[in-house]
Amino acid sequence: MNTEKRKIAILGSTGSIGTQTLDIIAEYPDLFEATVLTARTQVDALAAQARKFRPHMVVIAQPELESRLRALLRDLPIEVASGPEAIERCVTREDIDTVVTAMVGYSGLAPTLRAIDHDKLIALANKETLVVGGELIERKLRESRSHIIPVDSEHSAIFQCLEGEDSRLAHKIILTASGGPFRTLSKEQLNEVTVEDALRHPNWSMGAKVTIDSASMMNKGFEMIEAHWLFGCPSGQIEVVVHPQSIVHSMVQFKDGSIKAQLGVPDMHLPIRYALGYPQRLPSTQPYLQLKQYGKLTFEAPDMEKFPLLRMAFEAIDAGGTAPCILNAANEIAVAALLEKRIQFAGMPGLVAATLDAIPITAKPDYETLIAVNAEARAKASALLSSLQF
Ligand code: MG
Repeated sequence: MNTEKRKIAILGSTGSIGTQTLDIIAEYPDLFEATVLTARTQVDALAAQARKFRPHMVVIAQPELESRLRALLRDLPIEVASGPEAIERCVTREDIDTVVTAMVGYSGLAPTLRAIDHDKLIALANKETLVVGGELIERKLRESRSHIIPVDSEHSAIFQCLEGEDSRLAHKIILTASGGPFRTLSKEQLNEVTVEDALRHPNWSMGAKVTIDSASMMNKGFEMIEAHWLFGCPSGQIEVVVHPQSIVHSMVQFKDGSIKAQLGVPDMHLPIRYALGYPQRLPSTQPYLQLKQYGKLTFEAPDMEKFPLLRMAFEAIDAGGTAPCILNAANEIAVAALLEKRIQFAGMPGLVAATLDAIPITAKPDYETLIAVNAEARAKASALLSSLQF
């Protein structure tokens, strides 16, 4: 292996993926270095990470928190900055080669585009980036030496299944879904669930946004769109299969009928370790998967009637252009409203569908169009939220 350390910028270092990425960096100090850390609002946690990992630079997204961050790190030779512009700039630094995009939601798009322009290796953990800007990112990647290694467990699994294969001989991608906490509820019971119920995921420990998205299966819809762009396959060649044990992380079926699967414990350290170590497999000190503990692994079809957001994701990919951007923006408003108890869980698909109906789709959007449509869709969803009952 290259003896030079991989120099890593983590965008969103205080979140769930960010802290687990730092666990991996701490596990292999000879291989990796945390060179830049950024966070949205958790200034104390960011300062504590900086004290431990001694990056060259830290950025806090909210400008009003910069002075506190400076005060906390006064005795250390670490560059401090703030604001979304600084986050975009930090990914272009000469002293980093890898960017882990672990921030939440649409905010991942701009810095990811900048990192591609500067030929950085991207460990992609922010799925909204590809959902919103997949078409644009695909175009930009063709003109760049940058590569994307997926961190999402399903896409890491698909990436691993395709290693050493001719991807033209792949017949189908099979995305596994845990089904979330509401898999066994009836449509009527779904009308009664609360935000607290939605925040309890059976297998994975994650941030609030992705946990809600898992409960509504919007997360699986986004992952479908993500897989479409990462692996260049149409929606008709992507199948979602509910696998409640979350042990098979995803599969690829080839044209000879064979299916390859990647299995592991449901722990994000595994795909993060793979993405940072690639093409090496780094030995893990964490407990290995013990199949005998599980006894059986089960698979079933998803219920698109009960989880309409999953169906809307399939439709958005076929509609193309700005449809996935509108879907994502409306969903971000719906999830925020659920967390603030301004909408019922069962009302979210209606809000998203109404927003999609209200905004015309633009084909082949450039960056400026995505920015404008995102803002328009968010405003529309917010207006619908206050004027209608969901
Ligand atoms: Mg996932």
